[in-house]
Amino acid sequence: MLSAKNIFKSYPTPAEPLEVLRDVSLELDAGERLAIVGPSGAGKSTLLQILGTLDAPTSGTVQINQTDPFQLSETELAHFRNRQIGFIFQDHHLLPQLTVLENVLIPALAIGRPSEETIQHATDLLERVGLASRSTHLPGELSGGEKERVAVARALLNRPTLILADEPTGNLDSHTAQAITDLLLKLQAEENAILVTVTHSKDLAAAMGQQKTLLDGRLS
Ligand code: ADP
Ligand code: ADP
Repeated sequence: MLSAKNIFKSYPTPAEPLEVLRDVSLELDAGERLAIVGPSGAGKSTLLQILGTLDAPTSGTVQINQTDPFQLSETELAHFRNRQIGFIFQDHHLLPQLTVLENVLIPALAIGRPSEETIQHATDLLERVGLASRSTHLPGELSGGEKERVAVARALLNRPTLILADEPTGNLDSHTAQAITDLLLKLQAEENAILVTVTHSKDLAAAMGQQKTLLDGRLS
């Protein structure tokens, strides 16, 4: 379960603080999907960073599976984030010097040497995203859509409670974008994960579940 209650976020500026989120609340159960739409600068990435435990709110609380991540120590939080949350970004953030399989294994490499079972799981995920034959290739040898598929597989490696997608199809042509959207929805449903997508694309938002709009820092 993901819950955010009365989230406010301000950034300090030389003048008065910039209030980016104003009393944002949401609650999602396992398997639920939420798409947050809003114009550039509305605070979508800020909200996603908070839900992803990468940045603390100025006030308000976040709970993921009954844990308040911002009460954890830094080490505990890094571990918690790695286990509970899968991130998918617009520009996929693959490491160019690692193979496709190694890129999928990054969340496991972060906590030590991956077990045979984890390597098998990564291989299965590559199969499910249609890239089994590319596991030893480098990201530079893949198309944009294929790279995004790798990013989807990587986000799912640790069987996260929560998948956070920030403009996941932003750099793709519409045909490829549709394929990635379908894939993401299929895997999310199979894994019964919560999926939160932020985008300024109304088309993408419409495909990604229940829709809410972020405008002037308020979610409605
Ligand atoms: P970003 O870098 O935040 O993705 P873009 O570079 O895609 O923003 O934005 C390009 C232009 O489109 C900018 O002028 C931006 O303000 C505008 N824009 C972005 N999203 C929307 C939207 N949902 N509605 C109207 N204008 C938008
Ligand atoms: P969106 O993702 O909807 O485009 P953002 O969350 O990136 O919106 O940004 C919302 C507002 O907060 C923008 O005015 C942006 O300039 C500001 N902002 C974002 N991050 C920071 C930061 N680290 N420090 C100061 N201002 C920020």
